[in-house]
Amino acid sequence: MNDLPKTSPEIDKTDTTVGTKSRRPSPRDVMPEKDWSDYRGILIVVEQRNGIAKKVSWQLLGEGRRLADKLNTHLSALVIGSNVSALAKEAIYRGADQVYLCDSEELKDYRTRPYSKVCLTVIGQYKPEIVLMGATYTGRDLAGAIATHLPTGLTADCTQLDVDEQRLLLASRPAFSEKMLATILCKQFKPQMATARSGVFLALPLDPTRDGDIIPIASQMKEDEIVTRVLDFLEQNDYVSLEDQEIIVAGGRGLGGPEAFALLQNLADALGGVVGASRAAVDAGWITHDHQVGQTGSTVRPKLYFAIGISGAVQHVVGMQNADMIVAINRDPNAPIFKVAHLGIVGDLFTLVPALCTAIKAQKD
Ligand code: FAD
Repeated sequence: MNDLPKTSPEIDKTDTTVGTKSRRPSPRDVMPEKDWSDYRGILIVVEQRNGIAKKVSWQLLGEGRRLADKLNTHLSALVIGSNVSALAKEAIYRGADQVYLCDSEELKDYRTRPYSKVCLTVIGQYKPEIVLMGATYTGRDLAGAIATHLPTGLTADCTQLDVDEQRLLLASRPAFSEKMLATILCKQFKPQMATARSGVFLALPLDPTRDGDIIPIASQMKEDEIVTRVLDFLEQNDYVSLEDQEIIVAGGRGLGGPEAFALLQNLADALGGVVGASRAAVDAGWITHDHQVGQTGSTVRPKLYFAIGISGAVQHVVGMQNADMIVAINRDPNAPIFKVAHLGIVGDLFTLVPALCTAIKAQKD
């Protein structure tokens, strides 16, 4: 994207030399500089539920592979759960050189304390220089708990990752509301930690010829030491998880009201997809926030993305620009969405969407 956020000056989370004149010295100012050279390698914490990994974990393994090759170091995965050894193998097939596997009954469902203790044990023992996990509800909780205990810096919700010649992680995320992409560094502590959004990075294809060690890790807490109990999972039936969808039909303010989302639902049904939305449509109360795509919604990477009555503001585009095929319908030929669309149709959505539905259904019959 040409008109997307420009990279801001780097922000160093741990650089205490910034602005020291006017503030009282912090304990970090007098801390002797630590030698972190024994910290090597990249660790991806794989998130799973009922033995099924979150896509973001495989996407991070793909990105982790690229970073590890650049640093000339190893890529490890940490799989925690109960009956999850198949995931450890899959992590190898997806790019890991080795996997730490902590497989125990009390780890079946995510709970902060037992999971963070396993992570802290692995980090303490194997000393990775970089630790990455998905910016999911679970990943955010777990990463925060670990970073607090170590303590080290944590950059949340990254959309770009890289490393420099000093082996520093360049963790970039949208900042200052709109057009800035802040690159955040953690210079003085290890491991450098970040959570990253789903749908931003590419998972590697499964390669069953890959080989690697699976290292068993003991669970760190017994059930009677864990103060929380998972009693039940209550599924919200109408909740849409856009991140895993292959076809998304998204609508914006151009729909003019909530009723027009029925048109989009027809098109989504005909294509076997789901409905997405711009923030303008969500803020207007036409559809719920779980449908929102963009900077403050979901980042998606479907095979097919329809942007209907959506202008193409940078905060929307940042969430859908990686779709394989983008089709835009807008009555304004100068709408910015046409800059990212592979196929643009200038016209009135109220005529075009029903016509598309009819054509698709006719082809099916
Ligand atoms: P508009 O910009 O009003 O565009 C409506 C489009 O519909 C126009 O291009 C118009 O030509 C077209 N149209 C109208 N009638 C028709 C018709 N009959 N047929 C065909 N086309 C028609 N936005 C997001 O989407 N996701 C985010 O996550 C997000 N996060 C944000 C975070 C911050 C901090 C800020 C400041 C903003 C954020 N926004 C986000 C808002 C974003 O800046 C835009 O305001 C928003 O995306 C605009 O939504 P829209 O394209 O639906 O509406």
